[in-house]
Amino acid sequence: MTSQNLSRRRFVGSAGILTTAAWLSPRQLFAEKENIVLTARKRAETTNITVQALRGNVSALIGSGGNIAVLSGADGKLIIDSGYSTSRAKITENLVKICPEPIKHLINTHWHFDHTDGNEWMHSDGAAILAHEHTKQRLATTTRVEAWDFTFPPAPVDALPNEVFDKEKTLHLNGSTIALTYYGPSHTDGDISAYFAEADVLHCGDTWWNGHYPFIDYSTGGNITGMIKAAETNLARVTDKSIIIPGHGKVGGKAELTEYRDMLVTIRDRVAALKKEGKSLNEIIADKLTKEYDSKWATTFITGDVFTKLVYAGV
Ligand SMILES: [Zn+2]
Repeated sequence: MTSQNLSRRRFVGSAGILTTAAWLSPRQLFAEKENIVLTARKRAETTNITVQALRGNVSALIGSGGNIAVLSGADGKLIIDSGYSTSRAKITENLVKICPEPIKHLINTHWHFDHTDGNEWMHSDGAAILAHEHTKQRLATTTRVEAWDFTFPPAPVDALPNEVFDKEKTLHLNGSTIALTYYGPSHTDGDISAYFAEADVLHCGDTWWNGHYPFIDYSTGGNITGMIKAAETNLARVTDKSIIIPGHGKVGGKAELTEYRDMLVTIRDRVAALKKEGKSLNEIIADKLTKEYDSKWATTFITGDVFTKLVYAGV
């Protein structure tokens, strides 16, 4: 095993804990820290994955890291985000249920491991990978995320996007128009949306966490202002009939997305006002500004206090 493969293995293991930790209580999370690599990889291997038919030839695969979208048809499958590599068997099993055609196109909404960890195997199965140029840059180099206290080694060459774009790109496959649009810095500095025009299905990547406070990755160019701007962009793009796939959480619609945007704006305004008064981060956390939102949104490792900290960093 080369040192790159070894570090890749460590990366995969740690990758598992960070998002599967989303579904654990703090007590479980603490216990997991004892053996982060083995337990995280083990969990991702056994995590259940389900197929959700959405509209037309668009489906979602739920359960491996970030939510995956699948466009099926004679041109081969087009996949949005690749989940964990350790979910390969379960993802493959479910993809076959959708249609027999191979994966031909893979699009990454951003560089985070829970959306790109399966890139290498999907590419080896024949998929060309497309992403924003910053996503490729982040994957190609050593990348540290301070909030996770983790340094990611460069991804293997086969996991890197084969093609990148800057502002937007439109694809025509399987009778569908797929519009890819860069948000600008928001959750990271490489987030894009993917809109299946005929089916009216929008994949928002991690600019939308349905029913969870979102993570904002300041280490790789994200910020709360950009997150709110991205939520506004998403809202302007959809109607009450649109189906919206969040990066995390249940597939939803405009009503849930609106509620999420309103939550972000309210908490941002509260934190910004107190910071402007000169209050410190610890004083603001002690004020529990997210209190009435926590029962609905503090459902992952992003607690109300963690989210307050993420907002404070950017106002
Ligand atoms: Zn992410």
